[in-house]
Amino acid sequence: MCLICSWHESSTSNEERSSDHAAFAIAQTHVPTLIKVTAKERAAGNEFLRRWPTVDIHSHPGRFFMEGAPVTPFAESLAPPFTDEAVEQICCGGVGTVVFAAVSDHLLLEASRDGLQAIREFAPGEAYRDYRRQMARLQRLIGTGTLRLVRDSSEIREAHRLGQPACMFSIEGGDFIEERLERLSEAYQEGIRSITIIHYHVNQIGDTQTEAAVHGGLSALGRRIVEEMNRLGILIDLSHASLAASRQAAEISSQPMLFSHSNLRKSTSTHPRLISVEHARLVTETGGLVGATSAGFDQSTFEEYIVTILRMVDAVGIEHVAIGTDLDFTFKPVFSDYRDWSLIPAALLARGMHDAEVAKILGGNFLRLLDAARDGSVTRQIAGAYGKATHDRSKLNGT
Ligand SMILES: [Zn+2]
Ligand SMILES: [Zn+2]
Repeated sequence: MCLICSWHESSTSNEERSSDHAAFAIAQTHVPTLIKVTAKERAAGNEFLRRWPTVDIHSHPGRFFMEGAPVTPFAESLAPPFTDEAVEQICCGGVGTVVFAAVSDHLLLEASRDGLQAIREFAPGEAYRDYRRQMARLQRLIGTGTLRLVRDSSEIREAHRLGQPACMFSIEGGDFIEERLERLSEAYQEGIRSITIIHYHVNQIGDTQTEAAVHGGLSALGRRIVEEMNRLGILIDLSHASLAASRQAAEISSQPMLFSHSNLRKSTSTHPRLISVEHARLVTETGGLVGATSAGFDQSTFEEYIVTILRMVDAVGIEHVAIGTDLDFTFKPVFSDYRDWSLIPAALLARGMHDAEVAKILGGNFLRLLDAARDGSVTRQIAGAYGKATHDRSKLNGT
């Protein structure tokens, strides 16, 4: 039990609240994280968080982006946003930095049996207006002083040294840019350090994994946006981008890129959000990384999430894996409460990984990417490097 928030008592009411909204598989509130770790292993996880700066590289805590938004039928189908509660959980769980991702196209989305889909187009200026609303919410959030805004690796390390929970800004979907490249410098000025250029809506930048291709990958404007992001030092996030869009971005980008929340496909996988190892390598060969998401694609328990992470390490190398949970806006999450954050390092350490290896996954690799984007230098010495990691592979069979 967490001594600060006594969270085992509070979890019951959260579960009750979420049960009213069980019709949609999007994350609602807390689902207990079930994994067998001993008290000693859990203590090792907590101790790890004190020693190393950790980052969740893609998250929507409490669905903050929906607070104060026009109510769509999709938003109405979800439990109300719970940003303040999620921030408390971040503080309580000892998470170092959480990348808060605004969502460009949420006003267009509707849930179907196969996932989310954009069901209409934006009116001119609508995407930008909603972006401004979401940024105002984030500014109010950091105005409370509970979370410190960090913009580079040294600020992440400093926040960790001071024991101060921190947030970095990102946005999922480049729709808000419309056709105005100057909005990228505006976003940078406001603290945005990564943009998932394409989300569920086939936007002005390029094609998504979950819809038929319209642009054949990236549009001409999309290519200019990639170049401008390189110039400014904003990380290019290709989660949701189609294979062709990812390949074209990899050809153009002078900087390492990332898939902030994309798991690897198995031979039996069918979900279009999962990516092949070859798709992942388009990015890892730029020196970039793949964030393992806790979404319930091909995994239904936290234990399986740990296996997902270990398999990813074996497929693309220890230097190219990170954690991008996608809390609290994802499909059937197997991890949904930051108060359990220490269970991730605890479970990886318990599977035989060394401290320094876990530190790369939980933050170090992402800090390297931020440095490369800021300095404008490609980390070629690491690009495509396949670093093996120590862990107990005997338990990977059959999962
Ligand atoms: Zn996503
Ligand atoms: Zn997301």
